[in-house]
Amino acid sequence: MNWKTTDRYLIGESWVGSQIDQHLHKLCVEIGPRWGGTPAERSAAEYIRDAMAANGLSNAELEEFPIKTWSWKSASLSLIGTREQLDILPFNHCEAVDVEAPLVDVGFGTAREATQARERLAGAVALMNLTFEQFSAPEHHGQRLQTLAEADAVAAIVIDPKDGRRMEYHSGADWRQPGYQPGALPTVTTSREHGGLLRSAAANGVQVALKVDGKRFEATATNTVTDMVGEQWPEEILVLAGHHDTVIDAPGGNDNGSGTVTVMEVARVMQGLADELGIRPGRTIRFATWSGEEQGLQGAYAHVAKHWPIGSDVPLPRLNINLDELSTATVKGLVLTFPHLREFVQVQLDHMSGGYRCHVMAQMDANSDHFPFARRGIDASMCWRWRFAARNPDANFHHEPGDTIDKVRPRELHEYVAFLSRLLLRLSLIPPHDWPENHNTPQSIEQRLLDEIAQVVRVN
Ligand SMILES: [Zn+2]
Repeated sequence: MNWKTTDRYLIGESWVGSQIDQHLHKLCVEIGPRWGGTPAERSAAEYIRDAMAANGLSNAELEEFPIKTWSWKSASLSLIGTREQLDILPFNHCEAVDVEAPLVDVGFGTAREATQARERLAGAVALMNLTFEQFSAPEHHGQRLQTLAEADAVAAIVIDPKDGRRMEYHSGADWRQPGYQPGALPTVTTSREHGGLLRSAAANGVQVALKVDGKRFEATATNTVTDMVGEQWPEEILVLAGHHDTVIDAPGGNDNGSGTVTVMEVARVMQGLADELGIRPGRTIRFATWSGEEQGLQGAYAHVAKHWPIGSDVPLPRLNINLDELSTATVKGLVLTFPHLREFVQVQLDHMSGGYRCHVMAQMDANSDHFPFARRGIDASMCWRWRFAARNPDANFHHEPGDTIDKVRPRELHEYVAFLSRLLLRLSLIPPHDWPENHNTPQSIEQRLLDEIAQVVRVN
């Protein structure tokens, strides 16, 4: 292998032939919000498949799956006896609710605060900060909402920490729990500013009127899967993937137009390398984009369950690299879920030069599509993103209408494309007997999750 020529091609083509701008415009401007299971999400999947095929990847396919989904028509929040409508955004998958009830301020919803308020919570609407109380052990907001539901609160209003009346769509459950997790009770977000108004109303015994017209139902959503078949070990698979869906109303620039177009671009430059220089990967590279990430990682779960069901003897993929919110910061390297590939990957990163590092997460992290792979015991990794240091200043625009294409940094994505294509090609060419063994079992993973589930995943 002449790595100098090869790297020159991959790095050069990542910049010179880039289709990032056109893909982003199509996905985030022309198609726009792509909630899994909607016609817009389907259009995005079809566009991705067609663009893959147009770049010579002949195996591009759509993979449908049934998605548990949700829509909402209207929501309103006001203080009884006043006319002013307060800021409200339902949590994802919030069930319908229509109540007039006392408002109980539970602060941050810690166990101590919930116990103190317990008597008053039955039949009431709870008001809770989304963020953690700084002096107690942090507890996932899904768990705190569960505690409120157990105290018979009829609904919860959660205060978004962003300012300027910005609110994002949140999910109400800890995704490390198995199965579909729609949230323990009807929950809505209000803005930080209106959260202040609600706090004083609660202190003065004012009641609230809260109404959400939403419904849960099943629909069909679509993943895209494109295999570039390996020349030497075609049955061995490396998966590069990112989700193409968004929350409702968000154009999904950084989350996750950035990761989607990077999957498409790595496929393009690797196919170009094969077509122009005759250099093909040794293992099969599977380029995939998932739907339903924002609804509990349903697309990635469906793909893993379809291809590698527990109990089957189909070999598991060697590695999954998940791309999510890549415009959060520049390339720093790769973060693994399990430790046993660390040195092995670092050797490849050193060969590429540039100071890239391989790290290992201290805890399993269920907040993106690597998790269904990790839960299956597959080596799953991600690139640097929001939970790490040195974020770009506007990286906190996600799950809201402001996540537009100006939040994407195409120049930085060029480096991601070059980095990932160089790394994947290297990893694809390592003979099977030199690849470290993976001793994870479904049982060992579930045990680890049980041990970790009471803890909050460290975010920085
Ligand atoms: Zn995302």
